[in-house]
Amino acid sequence: ADYIVGLTGGIGSGKTTVANLFARLGITLVDADIISRDVVAKGSTGLSEIVKHFGNTVLLSDGNLNRSMLREKIFEEDSERVWLNNLLHPMIRETMLQQCKQAQSSYVIMIVPLLFENGLDSLVDRTLLVDISPDLQQQRTISRDTVSAQQVKNIIGSQASRAEKLSKADDVIDNQGEISALKCKVEALHNFYLKLSSNS
Ligand code: ATP
Repeated sequence: ADYIVGLTGGIGSGKTTVANLFARLGITLVDADIISRDVVAKGSTGLSEIVKHFGNTVLLSDGNLNRSMLREKIFEEDSERVWLNNLLHPMIRETMLQQCKQAQSSYVIMIVPLLFENGLDSLVDRTLLVDISPDLQQQRTISRDTVSAQQVKNIIGSQASRAEKLSKADDVIDNQGEISALKCKVEALHNFYLKLSSNS
């Protein structure tokens, strides 16, 4: 596909739920979270570069990346964080674009939680925000994961504000209602994206 819709939204907003409805309509999904894990999977170039730089201490005994150890290393040292981002961000970008190109659907949905925060909106043709209030974000995340209200608050605080995302997004899907209300909204957007992609 040559037409990319970037799907974003804060923690617990409903990105996965919305994306799965597009998938049911035959649209290929490209998931930034999955790709970020793949580029440092066992046997990847990414992982071997990380080991070359930080040493074997960032490996678990099974050969997988020790994420908490790596997090500690970049937490202590800004230059290390920059080094890691310079290694991984281009790999992630390239893989995302490659997967979009290979997709057979009329357009693709690229799921990127930090689309605006990381400036990845420049890679896509259109941006779609899943919008809910911070209170609902907290409520839904807590009932899904084993996290405290404070932890969710901190994560929400580290992401772009609701207002900022609303002002940047081309399209917004309100997910404050029932899940059952989403299907109709997704279908309407799907028809719109089919038109946009056929004109591009
Ligand atoms: P994250 O970025 O944190 O992984 P996400 O944006 O992908 O989250 P989902 O996992 O789709 O969000 O949704 C968060 C939780 O809220 C899930 O448990 C989901 O089933 C639930 N949920 C999604 N939409 C609704 C809704 N409209 N009403 C009630 N619960 C919902």
